[in-house]
Parts: sequence; C-alpha cells; structure tokens
Amino acid sequence: MPTVLILGGTTEARELAGALDGPRVITSLAGRTNNPLLPRGELRIGGFGGVAGLTSYLAAERVDVLVDATHPFAAGISANAVPAAERAGIPLLVLRRPGWTERPGDAWHRVASLEAAAALLPSLGRRIFLTTGRQGIGAFSGLDECWFLARSVEPPVPPMPARLEVVLDRGPFTLDGELGLFRSHRIDVLVSKDSGGPAAKLDAARALGRPVVLVDRPPPAGGTVVGSVTSALDWLTRLGDAG
Ligand code: NAP
Repeated sequence: MPTVLILGGTTEARELAGALDGPRVITSLAGRTNNPLLPRGELRIGGFGGVAGLTSYLAAERVDVLVDATHPFAAGISANAVPAAERAGIPLLVLRRPGWTERPGDAWHRVASLEAAAALLPSLGRRIFLTTGRQGIGAFSGLDECWFLARSVEPPVPPMPARLEVVLDRGPFTLDGELGLFRSHRIDVLVSKDSGGPAAKLDAARALGRPVVLVDRPPPAGGTVVGSVTSALDWLTRLGDAG
C-alpha cells in the first residue's frame, strides 16, 4: 500500500485526504490554529525542522508521494518540499487552487507584497477591511491614519495597527454576510491575498463599488502543479497505474 504525505492546512488538502481511497494517507499541519478542521486518515502536527527534517520524515515513514497542498502563500514549507522530495527520490505534486481573475466592475490594485499594500492604502481610503490573515497584520501597524477591521481565525498578536477591530471567524462566508460587514463598518477598501477559491468578499466589494488591494502570490517553487482536487486525484491515479 503506497504512502502519501499531504502537506495541508487548506480545504483542498482536507478534500484530497477524504477522497483518496487505498493509499495510506498522512496529513501534516503546521499547528497554527487551535481547533483545526481534521482530515480523514493519519495526522501529524508541527514543523519538520527544515529541509533536513522533512527529508528524514519522508524516509522514516516510507512516503512514496509528497503532495504540497498548502496555502498558496505558505512559501516556506513549499520551498522546503522541493529539495526534500528530490533528496528522498519521490515525486512531488503541488495542489494550488488558481488565483482570482478581475471581472467587470472590479477596481483591483495588484501589489507584490503586504508592505506595498500598506503603502498604497492611504491613497484609496481610511476604513480598511483586512483579510490577509493574522500573520500579515504587522505590515499595517504604522498606518495611524487608517482604521482597520481585521478578520482572522486566531487572534492577531503585536505589532498591530493602533486603530483595529478584530473579527474572529473562519469561512466559508456568504455574500449577504460580507455585504453586512462592509456596510456596518463603512468599509472603503478591501485588502486580500490572491488566495483563490470562494470569494464572497470580492463579490461584495464589486457590488458596492469598493476598491480591492490584492497581494500577488509567490511563484510555485517546483514539482508538478495542478489546480484542483480532481486533477490531483487523476495525477495520483496515473502515477499508481504507472507504478
Ligand atoms: P510557511 O511560512 O510556509 O511555513 C513556515 C514553517 O512552518 C515551515 O518551514 C514549516 O516548518 C512549518 N509548516 C508550514 N506548513 C506546514 C505543514 N503543513 N506541516 C508541517 N509544518 C509546516 O507557512 P505559513 O504561511 O506560516 O502557513 C502555515 C500553514 O497554514 C500552512 O500549512 C498553510 O497551508 C496554512 N495556511 C496558511 C495561510 C497563509 O496565508 N500563509 C492561509 C491559510 C492556511 P519546518 O521548516 O520546521 O518544517
């Protein structure tokens, strides 16, 4: 029975673990959230200790295929997965949901980093809806002229903007809910990473004519890249047939 290690922390990783029928499936989580949604199969939690640690783990657990299904902005673990899979001599599949595409009515400002997003904000508005995750909030801490509504799964830690209200919540979100947040907090601008996937917040910004600052995702570090759980299952099935 082959062993598949899924580097997880995303809906897609959980869906893939649930859909794989046959192999031994281990999902790995970083351990950032206190009550993670649990995937089917085996689970391990916490960092591996860099490339060397991940390589050792792959050998110790006799992993046959490594699947990097982490968030598109989890650049550290994705960069580690490439040399670790090479050293272990096993294939690496990267499951990355596609980024978002601008639609009529959108007013998007694409930027390369959270810092660039922060630099742009004062020219766009004063009341900002930050959906970049708690780890990204520090980049906005110097913007005293702006007020922030920040949404994250876990509470953010300093540095944080001085004028900040936090909503602790985990998606999926509805268009009505997002419209309600925009209206009740009189939001001028939405800030988001180009994470891809369901995007009621982008629909709400479009409906209300609000600009969006979208942080570009880092490029994939290597491996075979697919954009959906179905494509990942197809690839793994073909690999199994070939083996
Ligand atoms: P990161 O910067 O790429 O990772 C930093 C370190 O955390 C890695 O070097 C690794 O430590 C450990 N790590 C990360 N993901 C891991 C995993 N799935 N299993 C075991 N160790 C892991 O990652 P991040 O941006 O902090 O994200 C952490 C996790 O949250 C990821 O699994 C990701 O899928 C999920 N997530 C991230 C975002 C985001 O916006 N970045 C959003 C939603 C969910 P070692 O070097 O010690 O192995």
